[in-house]
Amino acid sequence: MRALVRSMTIELPSHIDQLRDTLRRFAERHMPRREAARWDKENTFPRNVFEELAALGVMGSTIPEEFGGTGRDILATLVTIEELSRRSLAISVPYIMCACYAGMNILECGSERQKADFLPRIAAGKLIFAYGWTEADTGADLASVKTTGRIEGDELVINGSKRFCSGSEICDYIYALIRTGEQGERYKNLSIVLIPPDSPGVEIQPIESMGMKGARTTDVSFTDVRVPLENIVGEQDGFNRGWGMITSSGLDVEKLEVAAIALGIAEAACDDAWEYSETRKQFGATISTFQSIRHQLAEMKTQLHVARLATYHAAMLSDREAPRRVETSMTKLFVTEAAKKVVLDAQSIFGAYGYVRDFDIERNVRDVLLMPIIGGSSAVQRNNIANWLGLAR
Ligand SMILES: Cc1cc2nc3c(=O)[nH]c(=O)nc-3n(C[C@H](O)[C@H](O)[C@H](O)COP(=O)(O)OP(=O)(O)OC[C@H]3O[C@@H](n4cnc5c(N)ncnc54)[C@H](O)[C@@H]3O)c2cc1C
Repeated sequence: MRALVRSMTIELPSHIDQLRDTLRRFAERHMPRREAARWDKENTFPRNVFEELAALGVMGSTIPEEFGGTGRDILATLVTIEELSRRSLAISVPYIMCACYAGMNILECGSERQKADFLPRIAAGKLIFAYGWTEADTGADLASVKTTGRIEGDELVINGSKRFCSGSEICDYIYALIRTGEQGERYKNLSIVLIPPDSPGVEIQPIESMGMKGARTTDVSFTDVRVPLENIVGEQDGFNRGWGMITSSGLDVEKLEVAAIALGIAEAACDDAWEYSETRKQFGATISTFQSIRHQLAEMKTQLHVARLATYHAAMLSDREAPRRVETSMTKLFVTEAAKKVVLDAQSIFGAYGYVRDFDIERNVRDVLLMPIIGGSSAVQRNNIANWLGLAR
């Protein structure tokens, strides 16, 4: 078994503290609680707030300076996701769709022409990608997607459908995993194709989900949708190489993006429960004086402390380009499950008020429940960890 403990220094660089302060001020000013509640209720994307966020330059945290970014900094990217998720997924998820789905993937997998064309626009917050991977019959087993693309002249003609394609209505391109060769080849005939959602032949049907409102999730169907061959990610070199792209190092960061969302939601829930416990009185005393509540809050703080350490450590491994697939899977597994527990515990501290819409905790519960499911479920992460650590089968 490979040694897991490498240098475990967890001292955050000073620019991360500054970034966190800036984002907290941003959230107070541009993402007040009542607005976050409205975005959730109306399932709406506040594009004006997203544009204000882009003006801070944070969209460029996955993009080298030569392309207009601030340099690839995964720790900064995750702290941005964490901070925005404390207040609203209607902003943090579109941030991921820009900085990560678009920025990180084009940087890693795009052709030189695509990098020069897309990256500066992404760094400016002007391009958002939605992931079109899942299909009705294709969940964890992504290599069995059935949506097809056939070459006709200098175009690709796409037929099929995607399920749970979040943010397809607000994106510029759907980053779609498509079968571009014969069925049966499985890993060798997949390509990633950029499909503008307003192309003729694209139809979008919203899906009513419990949480993660804002970039709402949808069914998307493609009927003879034509895109130029230059929309294949990586262009000629990317044709039929899609599997390598979705399992590239971007996947490690994707696991951490979900962990960072979960962390932000759980921190917000814990803070709110802490404050509530100090004001709510029963039996003549604030409930924070009851040992059961004190222990519960102490446990929640401890879980969050460990979750933060795991997330930042995995981010630092990613920034150093160190081997990290086991650590990122462990982080995704631990943080999302711990966050779920913390949020449910926070809800119980609110008692009956945790079950009504007046408090943010009700939204936190709906949002956090998704995190162990998406980005590779907890079962999938457990499989990966056991396999990669070489457990005999
Ligand atoms: C709100 C929301 C937003 C989403 N957004 C997107 C998006 O933007 N783009 C996108 O492409 N997808 C998106 N998804 C889909 C999400 O990523 C899927 O949940 C994922 O693809 C897994 O598919 P599935 O849930 O159908 O589970 P399945 O793969 O069908 O799994 C069902 C159950 O079996 C378990 N399981 C599966 N395989 C194994 C195994 N090998 N070993 C042990 N257990 C296993 C799973 O853990 C789960 O409990 C979204 C989903 C939701 C609900």
